[in-house]
Amino acid sequence: MIAENLRHIKNSIPKNVTLVAVSKTKPNAAILDAYTAGQRIFGENKIQEMAAKYDELPKDIQWHMIGHLQRNKVKYMAHFVDLIHGVDSFKTLKEINKQAIKHQRVINCLLQARIAKEETKFGLSFTDINQLISSEELSELKNIKIIGLMGMATFTEDQKQLKEEFSSLKVLFDTLKGTMSLDTLSMGMSGDYLLAIENGSTMVRVGSAIFGARNYIV
Ligand SMILES: *Cc1c(COP(=O)(O)O)cnc(C)c1O
Repeated sequence: MIAENLRHIKNSIPKNVTLVAVSKTKPNAAILDAYTAGQRIFGENKIQEMAAKYDELPKDIQWHMIGHLQRNKVKYMAHFVDLIHGVDSFKTLKEINKQAIKHQRVINCLLQARIAKEETKFGLSFTDINQLISSEELSELKNIKIIGLMGMATFTEDQKQLKEEFSSLKVLFDTLKGTMSLDTLSMGMSGDYLLAIENGSTMVRVGSAIFGARNYIV
């Protein structure tokens, strides 16, 4: 089932769009099914859960942290995380930089932009992103690299609203690309990844459409 779902999704997205298989709450056996089917990039939203899976699973898996970050837990993933999607403050970037130095790495990060109209979603305003990116403090953090932006649209079926939210982030992404080198725009989940791609996404984060529904809300 998992292999079949993966094949279906891979066939429906362009080659230049990266698929992150969101395996949060799912057991290692399910991840291995996807791995055997060729998937190498997995996304988790809890740092300690991801670290445990990293220890137990094949080392050529690239682990993406897609959840809200607790700064005091960054240290548990700094030695292996491949990309951190949900960065939404300078303080967090500073902590990632500090932990990356300890492991002599440069950690790739995405800034999470607030695009949803819902109040519960995390993320920086577009103004905050512009300020952060042009700040002198940022240029002092040598062990992090901002390679793009991430956004989560409102949980709605309203295609027009989703399109507006995705395309607003694409506009910001293109504007910033004029001043720095960015290549990753992470937007789109199981319910809206095709629409996100139509509106400029280069990386989709798909969980339930691959692994089935999760047993509990996270
Ligand atoms: C859970 C999660 C996803 C995947 O959600 P699905 O609807 O299961 O595809 C994508 N992005 C983030 C940030 C998530 O927390």
